[in-house]
Amino acid sequence: MLAALASCATPAHAPPAPAPAPAPITIAITPPPVVVPALPRRAPVALCDRGMVAPGPDGRLLGHFPYPETPATTLVPAPAALGDDTCRVHPAMLPDLERLIAASNVDPTVAGQLRAVSCHRSVPLQAQTFCGGIASGRTQGFRDRAWASAPPGHSEHATGYVIDFGTRDGGGCPDADACFAATPVGKWLLANAPRYGFELSFPAGNKQQVKWEPWHWRWVGSGKAVPGALPARRVFARANTLFPAAPMLPR
Ligand SMILES: [Zn+2]
Repeated sequence: MLAALASCATPAHAPPAPAPAPAPITIAITPPPVVVPALPRRAPVALCDRGMVAPGPDGRLLGHFPYPETPATTLVPAPAALGDDTCRVHPAMLPDLERLIAASNVDPTVAGQLRAVSCHRSVPLQAQTFCGGIASGRTQGFRDRAWASAPPGHSEHATGYVIDFGTRDGGGCPDADACFAATPVGKWLLANAPRYGFELSFPAGNKQQVKWEPWHWRWVGSGKAVPGALPARRVFARANTLFPAAPMLPR
C-alpha cells in the first residue's frame, strides 16, 4: 500500500506538455465604402443681384453645400451665459451645450470666458452677411467672399446646429479670427468640445475651399444614441464624408 501511494505521488513519467495555443487568426475587414448619393444637378443661382453662379457637380456653390433652414419657431434661446440674447439654436443641441458651458465654468483657465458670436442665421440674414461683405467697399468677387462666408441657402448656421464661439477676453484677438485658436477658450474648445457633441466644420487645411474657422462648431451629438443626434448627423453627412471635420465625432 505504501509502495502504491509512493508510486502515485511520484509518477514515473511527466504528463505531456499542453499543446501550444493556436495562433490568433486575423481577418482583415474592409469597411464598406461610404456612398454619398449625388445631389440633383441644380440650375445656376442668382446672388446679391450681381449675377448667376452655377453649382459644381458635387452640389456645392462656391465651396458650400446647400442646407435646409430650421424654422424660427423650432429654435430655442441659447443659455444666457453665452452673453448673446439673439442666439437661437436647435433644441436638440441644448442639453450638450449646457453641459459644455458648465464644464468650461469649472475650469479656471476659461471660467466665465465662453460666449457666442453667432448662432442660427436665417437665409435673409445670411444674404446680408454674404452680400454685405462684397458691397462694403472691398473688391472681393463671389469666390473670394465665399472663402470666408457661405452664400445664402448654403450656410451651416441656417440649420441651428452651429455656434460661432468667442471669448470675453481675447487679449486683442477679434471675433471670428484665426487667433481665436490660440486663446484659452479656443484651446479649451479644441480639447473638450467633442466630448459634448461638437465638431469643427472647417479645420485648418480643409480642402473645401473654406478658410480655417476655429470658432465655428457644429453639433452632431456625442453619440448616435443622443436624442436628436441622428438627424443632425444626416444634415452634415455629405459635408463630413467629403470634407471631414477635425476634431470629428466618430460616426
Ligand atoms: Zn460660423
